[in-house]
Amino acid sequence: MIYLGIESSCDETSVAVVSENKILANLVSSQDFHKDYGGVVPELSSRAHLEIISPLVKQAIKKASIDLNDIDVICATAGPGLIGALLVGLTFAKGLSLSLNKPFIPVNHIEGHIFSGFLMKQKPEFPMLCLVVSGGHTLLLNVKSESEIYKLGTTIDDAAGEAFDKVAKMLGLEYPGGPSIQKYAAKGDEDKIKFPISQLKNEFGFSFSGLKTAVLRYVQKEHLESKNIQKEDLQDITASFQKAVIEALKQKTDKALSIQDYNSLSLVGGVAANQKLRDAFQELSEKHNVKLIIPDLEFCGDNAAMIAHRGMQLHKSGKKFSLTHNAFASIPEGTFR
Ligand code: AMP
Ligand code: MG
Repeated sequence: MIYLGIESSCDETSVAVVSENKILANLVSSQDFHKDYGGVVPELSSRAHLEIISPLVKQAIKKASIDLNDIDVICATAGPGLIGALLVGLTFAKGLSLSLNKPFIPVNHIEGHIFSGFLMKQKPEFPMLCLVVSGGHTLLLNVKSESEIYKLGTTIDDAAGEAFDKVAKMLGLEYPGGPSIQKYAAKGDEDKIKFPISQLKNEFGFSFSGLKTAVLRYVQKEHLESKNIQKEDLQDITASFQKAVIEALKQKTDKALSIQDYNSLSLVGGVAANQKLRDAFQELSEKHNVKLIIPDLEFCGDNAAMIAHRGMQLHKSGKKFSLTHNAFASIPEGTFR
């Protein structure tokens, strides 16, 4: 069976061709022009997806050395994400499904991330404790099976990736903020500034907006104007900020591992590209003696291989989907129990 995956939820257009146990192609086209605006401009994103989607599908098919008619199932991200952007990939997939007379599977983008560990050689095992850290979501999940996902906690304000992006913008660093902050932080003193780590009533809840404000207050108090802020200050601030975010993510994950046994621990989503966070999870897996699966960098950020893989799971489960299935901006109520 050959699965085509299409992803267009934000600023990456991606097309993948996946067979039962092999990724034949996973192409990602990133919309770098959003850098000029300091964040993603939804309308421009939709237009860029529209321009690239058809050539990218052709390219992926060529890369996979298959013919369009070899595709058995067509999977596309239905949400959550930017509606205009999602509609491009979703509508393209529906059109392809109609013309090829092959099943269409709408995929929840977050579920794509959750199961992205299965794209690795070493597979996760259930029950799996999964931390999803992306630009729009921070979720700690108890994944009991492919169809039973329980939410332990989420953020009450900013997502972890969003905090990286907002703090980077505040400091005058390039979008996306995560990679910029990681680069500066590498040369900084992470113990220089003690930024707060939120303590919420919900033992698995997250909050990053207080930390973001603390960085702003520090910059103001020290009279560090973002335009002429010294490199050494930038390095120390980004390192201390990064440490606080990672500490918060680590503390909650540690707690979850202490109160229940899991057969694997998985770290997924764009922020999972952060090396210090990857190291922290390595420590946690050793402490709790649990198998750790973190996808390769190619599968941390938005990619269609994870969409095709999740589509494959849903297709194999026998679930049927109609072409009337629409795009959605946020996670539908009741998706995670
Ligand atoms: P996603 O929404 O899954 O595409 O992830 C995008 C988010 O990941 C953005 O908020 C980025 O700033 C963040 N990100 C990417 N690379 C890194 C990194 N090395 N460290 C921290 N955050 C990162
Ligand atoms: Mg994502």
